[in-house]
Amino acid sequence: MEKVLYEGKSKLVCAALDEQNCIIRYKDTATAFDGKKKEELHGKGALNAAISNFIYRYLEDNGVKTHFIKALDETSVLVKRAEIIMVEVIVRNVAAGSFSRKYGVPEGYWLKNAAVEFSLKSDELGDPMINATQITALGIASKAELEELVQTALKINKLLVELFMKAGIKLIDFKLEFGRSGDGIILCDEISPDSCRLWEDGTDKKLDKDRFRQELGGVTEGYADVLRRLKSVG
Ligand code: UDP
Repeated sequence: MEKVLYEGKSKLVCAALDEQNCIIRYKDTATAFDGKKKEELHGKGALNAAISNFIYRYLEDNGVKTHFIKALDETSVLVKRAEIIMVEVIVRNVAAGSFSRKYGVPEGYWLKNAAVEFSLKSDELGDPMINATQITALGIASKAELEELVQTALKINKLLVELFMKAGIKLIDFKLEFGRSGDGIILCDEISPDSCRLWEDGTDKKLDKDRFRQELGGVTEGYADVLRRLKSVG
């Protein structure tokens, strides 16, 4: 039996033959609102794996260090093992979701600069927002590490805005996770329509997990459209 190191809401992390690596297995489970809304969406795991692998290859080609090694099958990816830094790094180009609600900004408002924010990775506490001095005060990451996270997140944003724009998609916001490895800080987790807001250019049709959160239907069709468009730009 394969050793499961960690089971998340939408992925399993399993031991690999080499202790330096592990295997991520994408599941078809979709969850929202701290897991209160949950459904199996056939094919979602394979779509997210394909989209995330495509993006991580593109980022590696553009000088971003990531955990990605290679795809093993439709839903499994071999990655470098890393010690996850327990904050989520969120980058926003356009107001939406919790940002719109919290600050009273209409969804769709283009921000004057990319906004970077942190959330503590804790399902128990509902991923509360946390600032840089609170993160260093709690010893979650050092000041130098946080500076690197912000600079890397902004670089990733620039690269992804460009990539998605070519694919006819607006990158509204997204969430990143990083880890410490032998190679320094590397991008971990996934970048997929589960962790990004992606709107079709021209129509603002949502192609991401908001289709699931807001019961808009056509969730996997939206994800499949994202993959098709990414592949069309090469
Ligand atoms: N996000 C995520 N996981 C989280 C929280 C947020 O992937 O635990 C993503 C979310 O899909 C969106 C961006 O981060 O693309 C910003 O999310 P927001 O803070 O607006 O929270 P939400 O409205 O998704 O609860």
